[in-house]
Amino acid sequence: MMNITNKNILISGASIAGPTLAYWLKRYGFTPTVIERVPQLREGGYPVDVRFEAVQVARLMGIWSRLQQEKTTIEEMSFVNERNQRISRVNIQAVPKALDVEVVEIMRGDLARTLYELTKDEVEYCFGDSIQALKQDEAGVDVTFERGGSRRFDLLVGADGLHSIVRTLVFGDEAQFERYCGYQVGVFTTDNYLGLGEASIQLYGVPGKLVAVRSTRGNQTLAAFFLFKQPTKLRYDYHDVERHKQLLAEVFAGEGWEVPRLLEKMQTAPDLYFDAVSQVRMERWSHGRTVLLGDAGYCPALLTGQGSTLAMMGAYILAGELKVALGDHKLAFPQYEQVFRPVVTQEQKKAGANARFLVPATPAIERGRRLLPMFYSRPSRLKDYGNVLPASGTIDGKREPGI
Ligand SMILES: Cc1cc2nc3c(=O)[nH]c(=O)nc-3n(C[C@H](O)[C@H](O)[C@H](O)COP(=O)(O)OP(=O)(O)OC[C@H]3O[C@@H](n4cnc5c(N)ncnc54)[C@H](O)[C@@H]3O)c2cc1C
Repeated sequence: MMNITNKNILISGASIAGPTLAYWLKRYGFTPTVIERVPQLREGGYPVDVRFEAVQVARLMGIWSRLQQEKTTIEEMSFVNERNQRISRVNIQAVPKALDVEVVEIMRGDLARTLYELTKDEVEYCFGDSIQALKQDEAGVDVTFERGGSRRFDLLVGADGLHSIVRTLVFGDEAQFERYCGYQVGVFTTDNYLGLGEASIQLYGVPGKLVAVRSTRGNQTLAAFFLFKQPTKLRYDYHDVERHKQLLAEVFAGEGWEVPRLLEKMQTAPDLYFDAVSQVRMERWSHGRTVLLGDAGYCPALLTGQGSTLAMMGAYILAGELKVALGDHKLAFPQYEQVFRPVVTQEQKKAGANARFLVPATPAIERGRRLLPMFYSRPSRLKDYGNVLPASGTIDGKREPGI
């Protein structure tokens, strides 16, 4: 291998983008270190899609068949009324099939665990810590950690999500870059007390509000999803889970169907995720020796269903450009942005239409049928960066063990 510079790279965030980047950097001869705020890998959460070129990335990483083993299967979406009667239905499977799109739906935590396990023996992971302060100069980045101590790295990557600490420290307050989409979301898991089968998702909508339930993990667990229109952004502490529960309970108080029982279940749920539905839009994704990846740099908003796909594609492209530039970030970072920004821009445009489908004035099935293909429209083609891109339909492409 030719000599590369800037080998020591710190990645903040160990969800989807961070470990995918760590995998490719390691494979190309760099030495990535990953720091993650939570003390251990977060399990479960909610199902996400891996689609399009991210499927190719997964194949190249040798994890496509594992993702398929762990996938959650959903065949249809049923809208129900307050008496639990089905009023309309969308065949979810038919759309990707008709469009010839490869997609796997998997719990975010299972995808993150797969990526972590693929890299953990070769990459240094530091859980339960966060960057507290940093200083860049011509030759490197000095990073101070919350739990004490400091280290110097050649480059820094913020793969730490919508509320990225790297973005705040390097680019400034997140309010400058957040585009609030006008919705608030709450997701949690509970026992499958409804006895739902895996294949269907039930949705209950009243104007401006949507509640959805589906079973996951061999029908043991019920994932509940609450989405509501909220024209002005709510102000609350991101870490105050009791406040999140109170807000959701207030907004959905008095609603019919299973809502009262679900709100009761939420009170003891271990994993409530509550956040604004927002995009991140930035004029530049890099500054000096720091670059942003995934939701930290260009969150498309969960309503596009493309966040994980963009995180994996972005990681592959960023690592590929660093490889091609032999680690020269002054060449690689702008190139990563030039290649990937058009894809991101296209995806971010879709959030509004998807929101209108999910939270319509009425549960209008015809509109749903027309708009559903938007979830699956193709983002772009991948560059190969010296890898043999597998043809679609192959199992795992040319599988390579580990890194
Ligand atoms: C309810 C919901 C449904 C979704 N559905 C879909 C879907 O169907 N399809 C899809 O593709 N996407 C979906 N998404 C979006 C998807 O989860 C994200 O876009 C994707 O996870 C982005 O990956 P990421 O690694 O960039 O960021 P994240 O997954 O947000 O990960 C960021 C990581 O950084 C860590 N972190 C945060 N702060 C710090 C810090 N200070 N120091 C160190 N680490 C830190 C976090 O703990 C986390 O592990 C959904 C999201 C939500 C909330």
